[in-house]
Amino acid sequence: MTQGRANIIKLPEIKLVDQYKRRLNYLRISVTDRCNMKCMYCMTHQKTSKLPCREILRYEEVLRIARIFINLGVSKIRITGGEPLVRKGICEFLSGLSGLGGLTDLSITTNGVFLKEKIKQIQSAGIRRLNISLDTLDKDKFKKISGIDAFSQVWESIMLALDMGFDPIKINVVALNGINDDELPDLARLSLSYPFHVRFIEYMPIGTSRMTFRQLLAPEIQDRISSIGRLDPVENISFDGPAKRFRFENAKGEIGFIRPISEHFCSSCNRLRLTASGNLKTCLLSEIETDLKGPLRKGYSDSELADIILKAVYNKPFEHPLVANHAGMISGCMSAIGG
Ligand code: SAM
Ligand code: SF4
Repeated sequence: MTQGRANIIKLPEIKLVDQYKRRLNYLRISVTDRCNMKCMYCMTHQKTSKLPCREILRYEEVLRIARIFINLGVSKIRITGGEPLVRKGICEFLSGLSGLGGLTDLSITTNGVFLKEKIKQIQSAGIRRLNISLDTLDKDKFKKISGIDAFSQVWESIMLALDMGFDPIKINVVALNGINDDELPDLARLSLSYPFHVRFIEYMPIGTSRMTFRQLLAPEIQDRISSIGRLDPVENISFDGPAKRFRFENAKGEIGFIRPISEHFCSSCNRLRLTASGNLKTCLLSEIETDLKGPLRKGYSDSELADIILKAVYNKPFEHPLVANHAGMISGCMSAIGG
């Protein structure tokens, strides 16, 4: 499962191909809709009710669905949430997932608050790559954005992850005009001193966040950090995902731009998502979901579940609604879908 062993794994044929011939080999699994934070861009208006526990997939159910996906050709899985590290038993689950075999990449996205206390178990479970969200280097602003006073914990987690050899460590920054735009150069400078991949993400108008501010898009972000030095493009390799990658001269790390709005990557999208409630989403920003939990709990066999998955995948929308309609807001909740 580790990067080193990737070469010797014989990957199953990818059966997950949609009608536009896109090959879907990357599954993002949200293991919970719960979170210890309330980031202003993710779930500002916390009126959204939490899923009842029985509606959330049990770990053994997630493992079964994951195994079916792997047999259909998924080779990369990212665990996300909500905050995955708030769910009890997460490290044992990660070990179980790693033990399924067949993956070239298994990683998690976390807000980092509980990372320090779980990091050894996470590493023992076979995780080598981490995405940690950090939108500011300012303690007070961190509280304003996330609702909790936890900058130091997150920073300590990041430093510990670095010491323990996680590689790469990707730092996810949602660019927020009027909130953290003044810090974009400082956040970008992290890639000079540390081998971090600092990734600026365009805010997506989804779910309960409903922020009303002028969008800060990748070209403008790039412009704002250009005072630091020349940004040289870095060639994308497979599994890089949609980030457009760059590096400052002599930098230890990289800069990436995730541009769902300014330059959507729909035509080459290889992603599928399993929500915490057991729905398959073939497009993050589409409202179409396919229930897998119901059939699974009704006793469907693996091959019957695989048929449902294949059919949903075949019908994956060609592009997301923000592209198709130039629409405003998309319903759903990022914390349940997993970003
Ligand atoms: N709680 C974990 C975290 O924050 O890293 C994992 C779940 S979070 C939903 C996954 C990613 O989605 C985070 O990097 C977060 O910054 C990003 N995200 C959440 N809401 C977003 C939005 N409206 N637009 C763009 N990115 C968003
Ligand atoms: Fe929680 Fe992550 Fe959403 Fe922030 S972005 S509220 S940490 S799920």
